[in-house]
Amino acid sequence: MTDYFKPDARRILWIRQGRDRLIANRHPWIFTGAIEREDGPPDAAIGDLVDARGMRLASGFYSTHSQIRLRALTFAEEELTPEVIQGRIRAAVARRSSLGSAGTNAMRLVHSEGDELSGVVADRYDDMVVLEITSAGAERIAELIIETLRREIHPRVILRSNDLPSRKHEKLPLESEILGSPPARAMIVENGLRFAVDAAEGQKTGFFLDQRDNRALVRTVAAGRRVLNLFSYSGAFGVYAAAGGARAVTNVDISASAVDKARQNHDLNGSTDIATFEVADAFSYLRGAGRQEWDLVVCDPPAFAKSRHEVERAARGYKDVNLHALRQLGPGGLLMTFSCSGHISLDLFQKIVFGAAIDAGRRVSILRRLTAGEDHPTSLFCPEGEYLKGLLLEVH
Ligand code: SAH
Repeated sequence: MTDYFKPDARRILWIRQGRDRLIANRHPWIFTGAIEREDGPPDAAIGDLVDARGMRLASGFYSTHSQIRLRALTFAEEELTPEVIQGRIRAAVARRSSLGSAGTNAMRLVHSEGDELSGVVADRYDDMVVLEITSAGAERIAELIIETLRREIHPRVILRSNDLPSRKHEKLPLESEILGSPPARAMIVENGLRFAVDAAEGQKTGFFLDQRDNRALVRTVAAGRRVLNLFSYSGAFGVYAAAGGARAVTNVDISASAVDKARQNHDLNGSTDIATFEVADAFSYLRGAGRQEWDLVVCDPPAFAKSRHEVERAARGYKDVNLHALRQLGPGGLLMTFSCSGHISLDLFQKIVFGAAIDAGRRVSILRRLTAGEDHPTSLFCPEGEYLKGLLLEVH
């Protein structure tokens, strides 16, 4: 492998005057606007950000095409070496060691900025690892990342999941790649429940690992309730609700293949008899269903705002779906509602749900504020990483 770490293989980025505060805040994203000029090979994996005197301020993954020109991994005197990257991967894996013991063999192993590896995500599904690299610099040293994961985890198969819009912006190949022994499928256990994960075909890396704790919460409140699981994907919230003693569960998703997966997962956990499956648009379903008296509604839509410009339209979507969900809940009903749009803060999301509650004419209390599980840590220096936010509401 080319030694991308040696001094003359690195790109040198000269910081624009007056931008030094950026570094003091230790935000890992260094945008083009903060850079005065660049030297060195344009296909470098590693970049060093330096001041006017040539003193190193930060080092990280370099990218020629992205607005985020450098994803900083180390600052000031800390040298960026292959050992630093290996050490971060090992630390990330070790950080999750307690998660694996409690009937759970699926978790996020590396969470980008949250594990000080901006641009690298790795999920473990039993003996399969799914790797998503979204930075050109990280792509160039992919071998180092893969070798370290192999040594730590010994997976049967690694799926390099490359079909991502962010890779398109970085002009990286979009074909996914299977390393090791196919198929890129696994049967996982999560809190003692079983799920089939097809990483090559599924959404995200195959399963929404970030909702694990919130699903566990649903299991504790579901007893005796009629549950509506909106945007159900592979039915995971529905399976937990059934395991918690729900009287009935209805899973609704617009994708027929997602609904097939939901059926399969209910089957795996012996709860098909109380479950119903609908291939439908959640908005039309709520409007068309008449006034149903659900006791628990889970509402976990895809990110409605994929960019800052879409926030207003997204807010209308969140308000609409929550308004209709609130209207259909019986007294004492529970609504567990989420936004996974990075551009919508918890504060804004709460205001949107407030607007929906006013319009629905319901009295509503927040029982819990919800976020992703501990295998999705957020860097204090990169709050943008906290994309998932939710509320558990009681409705009268
Ligand atoms: N709650 C799920 C993850 C949901 S992901 C879990 O815990 O696994 C969002 C899902 O919403 C996807 O499966 C997608 O197919 C579905 N979806 C997107 N738009 C939709 C719409 N308008 N109506 C219903 N489902 C929709």
